[in-house]
Order: sequence, then structure tokens, then C-alpha cells
Amino acid sequence: MATTKATKTTNATAAAAQTAEIGVIGGSGFYSFLDDVTEIQVDTPYGSPSDSVFLGEIAGRRVAFLPRHGRGHHLPPHRINYRANLWALRSVGVRQVLGPCAVGGLRPEYGPGTLLVPDQLVDRTKARAQTYYDGLPLPDGVIPNVVHVSPADPYCPEGRRVALTAARGQDWEAVDGGTLVVVEGPRFSTRAESRWHAAMGWSVVGMTGHPEAVLARELELCYTSITLVTDLDAGAEAGEGVSHEEVLEVFASNVDRLRKVLFEAVTLLPETDTRRCLCTHALGGVDPGIALP
Ligand SMILES: [Zn+2]
Repeated sequence: MATTKATKTTNATAAAAQTAEIGVIGGSGFYSFLDDVTEIQVDTPYGSPSDSVFLGEIAGRRVAFLPRHGRGHHLPPHRINYRANLWALRSVGVRQVLGPCAVGGLRPEYGPGTLLVPDQLVDRTKARAQTYYDGLPLPDGVIPNVVHVSPADPYCPEGRRVALTAARGQDWEAVDGGTLVVVEGPRFSTRAESRWHAAMGWSVVGMTGHPEAVLARELELCYTSITLVTDLDAGAEAGEGVSHEEVLEVFASNVDRLRKVLFEAVTLLPETDTRRCLCTHALGGVDPGIALP
């Protein structure tokens, strides 16, 4: 009997190790410090995600980490399978997602090292699958219904509040709000493009924030973007323009701090079942025609 009980407990522990409630889309710098990480491969009807999903625990909360660009950073922003990434996270139980990313500052006051939690998003990408409801059959033959979700306020209000609080807890006063404009990449902006983005009143420019946020909304996931400014974009500086080395250098020098903010945020996010935010009913009760994982 004791053996059976022990086996059951082991199985339950093993099953729990395969799930998570919170997702963090970010590289190994964020999960390599966890004691016990389980790596699992998740396949989706949309193909493979960027990499394995790495599951761990922070202060009793189960967290799934997914390296957005794959380990080794081999996927450029326009080649990332955003649909598979969010589907994979949801399929292991994730309902709240934190999406840290590197961005360029569009205002001189948003220099390298600035943390900004945007409240708006502008899509200037060109060729990315950005919906689950595109009328095409999935591999099992099921065709999704036509569904229109509203990303009027594209980020989870609760997640944003938590991110700002977590940053403050690390003595990092994050900018509360602003518009993230997402370009196709992988090239950086020309000076004219950058000046135009700034003239429109947008705050930071990145390459991965879209379609991540809107796909999360389509799956009724809470999604919070946390942007780290690694450079002043071409129009906001007088120098040579952005270099890839500069971006990597600033990101590396802030990754410890950012990890602390993310870990703190994980502990502050509400329990999955207690959420009352708009994200949880983004489909408005409409049948999507496909079974969400
Ligand atoms: Zn939410």
C-alpha cells in the first residue's frame, strides 16, 4: 500500500511539474537561476514553439519560461512562431503572461536602462500570422469560427499594476504607460522612420510585442509587456544609430535586475481563478469553433 501511495504521490508531483499558471516569454537569463527546472517539448496545431518550455517554481507559483528567440537566440523576430508560443503556454496551464522585451527609446528622456510598461500598441509589422481565427482548418480538420476580439486596451490592467509595483520594489521606477510601436525588423529603423514614430507621440519601438499581445487576447490570456530600453532609436540621437552590440550589452547589464522584477511580479499576480480583468472574457462568450487548450 505504501508503495502504491508513494507512486501516486510521485505521479501527482510529476504531473504538477508539467504545468504552470504564469508564463514568462524570455531567455535563459531568466530561468537559469531556478533550482529545479523541468524542460518539456510542446507541439501545437500551429507548429513548434521557439523552444522547449522550461517549468519551475517561484515562491510557490508555477512558472513556464519560453525563450522567445530560441536558446542561442537563433530566431529573428519575424521568424518567431508567436501563435505556437502562446498556444504552448496555454496548453501547460498558463493564463497570465509576462512579456519582457528590449526596445529603442523614442524620446531622449527614455535612455538605456529605462523600464517602461506600455499601455498601448501600434502594429507596423508586415508579414506575421496574427490570429488564431483565420478561417483555415487546423491539422485535425476543424475550422475556427470568425472571431473578432478587441485589443482596445491590449495589456492586462492587473498585470501592468503588478509589473510597476514589482519594479518599484527593486528601486526601479518604471514609466507607467506609453505606446510600443512594433516594426517588422530584423533591421532597425531609418532616421526618418524613427523621427516619424516619435512625432506620432509613440514612446518605444520594438520587434516582438506584436502579435504577441493580440494573440494572447485571442486566447483569453492576461498579457503584460515590460519593455527595457537598450538604446535611443536612430531619430532620438545624433550618433551612428543603433547597433546590435549596444542592444546586447545594455540588456546583459540589466538582466539581473529585470529578472528580480519578473520574479517579484510572479509572486504578486493574482491566482488564476480570482482574475476579474477584461482579458478573461475577451471572446465575450462567442464560440471560437476550436477547442482552446
Ligand atoms: Zn488580465
